Amino acid sequence: MIEDKNQQRTQLSDLGEFGLIDHLTKNFKMSQSSTIKGIGDDAAVLAFENKKIVVSTDLLVESVHFDLSYMPLKHLGYKAVVVNLSDVYAMNAKATQITVSIAVSNRFPLEALEELYAGIETAAKIYNVDVVGGDTTSSNTGLLISVTAIGEVEDEVYRSGAKPNDLLVVSGDLGGAFMGLQVLEREKEVYKVNPNNQPDLEPYTYIIERQLKPEARKDVIQLLKDLDVKPTSMIDISDGLSSEIIHLCKQSNVGCDLYEEKIPLDPQVISTCEEFNIDSTTVALNGGEDYELLFTVSQADFPKIKANPSLSVIGFMKDAKDGMHLVTRGDSKIPLKAQGWKNFND
Ligand code: ADP
Ligand code: MG
Repeated sequence: MIEDKNQQRTQLSDLGEFGLIDHLTKNFKMSQSSTIKGIGDDAAVLAFENKKIVVSTDLLVESVHFDLSYMPLKHLGYKAVVVNLSDVYAMNAKATQITVSIAVSNRFPLEALEELYAGIETAAKIYNVDVVGGDTTSSNTGLLISVTAIGEVEDEVYRSGAKPNDLLVVSGDLGGAFMGLQVLEREKEVYKVNPNNQPDLEPYTYIIERQLKPEARKDVIQLLKDLDVKPTSMIDISDGLSSEIIHLCKQSNVGCDLYEEKIPLDPQVISTCEEFNIDSTTVALNGGEDYELLFTVSQADFPKIKANPSLSVIGFMKDAKDGMHLVTRGDSKIPLKAQGWKNFND
């Protein structure tokens, strides 16, 4: 479906490992004052004055986490960085550096890795993080990419701080990344049968972008600071609303009522769900990869957040003994299940 437009194919073996690393990383500029030494020595050197440090790693594996038949490498590089930064922001931290490790087979020419690194570079620039190191090795199977993000934090927010009566809040809207994936999978099947078919993806631009080029909510962390709201607990939504709520509840030892009618959905998600005949609430609960922030605030903070278009209050926390429930539009209560996005797909 996505044509390989690279005319030129430079074999990785022509460069050698060090030539490759130099080539891929030569454009990276250091902008954080905490970066003392970036790429080029045995280790990076960072200096954080009196700040606590957060570290988070993700590993993405071809055909498990991404499919190169519809994921352009540039987007993959971008997404690999963004999903990591999302974890840093979910701690209420500021992301400052990343390291990037890749395992590649020689089926990739240099030009493909340049694409991957163009995406990494774009994300690093947009989110203002320095790429300070990594590792490069060969793989006999697919492509692997691992990103480690480093950040600094003053007031970290854990998953474990929610109290009964706290409001449950989510940024942005949900279900888009999952529905974008459904469209891409469908088009891939169509393409297999008829490679000349030009899909009309216009009605799905938002949800496809949610899948291929997600953003981390750095802006929401800033917004909360500006509003002078410190969440009592927080997590990013990588697996689906339901399982993330359960994480917050279990680690905070509270229960929760989630209101179906309050779950924010983009119109494109709703229309695509209708087209695929899937229930949009199920998608919001169990689809994943939206990378929105889910957090709780004390009721006293409600006036500060209520009018904000980026934030939706979707429920409130209860005593642990009350359990975790979805309150449906029909006002019945259904226990929340951590179905997760992988199971949901099977
Ligand atoms: P070592 O042999 O000690 O692992 P390398 O030769 O792998 O060292 O790495 C040399 C430098 O290049 C180090 O600063 C390392 O962090 C950096 N580096 C290696 N691979 C990558 C990569 N894929 N992306 C960014 N930096 C990398
Ligand atoms: Mg190395």
